[in-house]
Amino acid sequence: MLASAALQISSKITLSISLVVALAGAIATGAALEGQANEQRMAFTRTNTEALDLLALSVAPAVAAGHHYEVQATVDNMVTFKERFEGIDDFEVIDTNGRIVAAHDPRRFGEVLTDTKTRAQLREPMSTTERTAQHLVVTLPIRLEHPIGMLRAHIGLNRFNASVRRQQSGAALLLAITMLLIGVSLHFLHGRLVGKRLSALAQTAVTFGKGTLATRADITGSDEISELAGSFNKMASELEIYTHDLEHLVTERTAQLEEANVELERLATTDQLTGLCNRRHFDQSARRAIEVAQRNDRPLSVVLIDTDRFKSINDRFGHPAGDIILRDVARVLTENARKADLVARIGGEEFAVLMPEASEKLAAQGAERMRRALQDAKHPDAPDLGDEPVTASFGVAALDDSLNSLDQLLFASDSAMYKSKTDGRNRVTVASAIEGSA
Ligand code: GH3
Ligand code: MG
Ligand code: MG
Repeated sequence: MLASAALQISSKITLSISLVVALAGAIATGAALEGQANEQRMAFTRTNTEALDLLALSVAPAVAAGHHYEVQATVDNMVTFKERFEGIDDFEVIDTNGRIVAAHDPRRFGEVLTDTKTRAQLREPMSTTERTAQHLVVTLPIRLEHPIGMLRAHIGLNRFNASVRRQQSGAALLLAITMLLIGVSLHFLHGRLVGKRLSALAQTAVTFGKGTLATRADITGSDEISELAGSFNKMASELEIYTHDLEHLVTERTAQLEEANVELERLATTDQLTGLCNRRHFDQSARRAIEVAQRNDRPLSVVLIDTDRFKSINDRFGHPAGDIILRDVARVLTENARKADLVARIGGEEFAVLMPEASEKLAAQGAERMRRALQDAKHPDAPDLGDEPVTASFGVAALDDSLNSLDQLLFASDSAMYKSKTDGRNRVTVASAIEGSA
């Protein structure tokens, strides 16, 4: 694609220059050839006229003396001047009366020429040359002291014209070959000096455009193309640095964004006071866990925990002390839960524990372990609470055919927890033990 485009430019420029050179060459050669042909024509005329002049001189005494056979003999002997009179087609020696006294064709002897042209030439004898399509007609006066006749020769031009045409064809062929050589040389030179370099530069730009930012153009010499390559390299370097900085910035910002998202996610799923997961996170996780348990026909339980008489703690020791106690409750629950359990704060002083793979019995055991641990827990950071321990009431519900959604499990565990409250608090009640439960 690129190479062909460069070739096109190269070809177009080469063609344009070749055309101009060919035109100029053709005009100059044409003019030179025409000049040369003219010179040759003049030389041809001159040579023949001079030779015929000599002949006119040599036959003059015989014409004057009326020795016409002598004149004819001289004319006949013209064969010996073959190289000089090779082109002569017709030849006449005419006396002042217009009578042919010697001719190329001896049978014309005695013929009297009465045409106006001949008469006029005899009246005013002078040297003339006339050119027709086929002949050069040379007319020369024959004189001793006075004009005594004239000599007229028709010199054939066919051979001369053919020779000129041969020379012109040869020159035209030479011109064509020269133009061809100039065209080929220009094409080669242009391709080497401009086309190939432009093509390489364009290729570099394409490679750069495709993302290879370290690509640079070759710089050779110090012409406009080298300047262009230099400017391209400068621009490429600046773009590379700019892109690198931009990539760095994007990476940095992406990392910051990821950190912020993680923090946001943590804030969205964590309870601020205790660090446990919040109600929203608990609900999401519990729903997923219930689906998995149901699909795999595995047990799962939920334990609901409500801190006992917490209002009174707040009332007696203040809200900040209540907060400390809430954190202690969260810590005790977490410490006594299994690894797979999820402990959450789902309300003010209410907590929930999701227990995957735990039947109601196993969950009740876990809840009992937590209850006892809380009852025995110390609260070093809180004010002295006296002998009264911090306790909580527990309600346990396990997934089964009748309790088969989170809402039902929460409702059942809440009822069990409420039963713990009404039965005197600080105890664990399982949902299945509540009268009237399924
Ligand atoms: P019960 O044994 O029946 O549950 O009695 P209770 O006092 O615990 O129950 P109640 O619902 O009457 O009181 C709950 C109290 O918990 C009321 C509220 O001020 C307190 N509470 C809720 N959230 C927070 C909290 O974030 N910090 C503190 N310090 N107290 C809280
Ligand atoms: Mg409560
Ligand atoms: Mg309470």
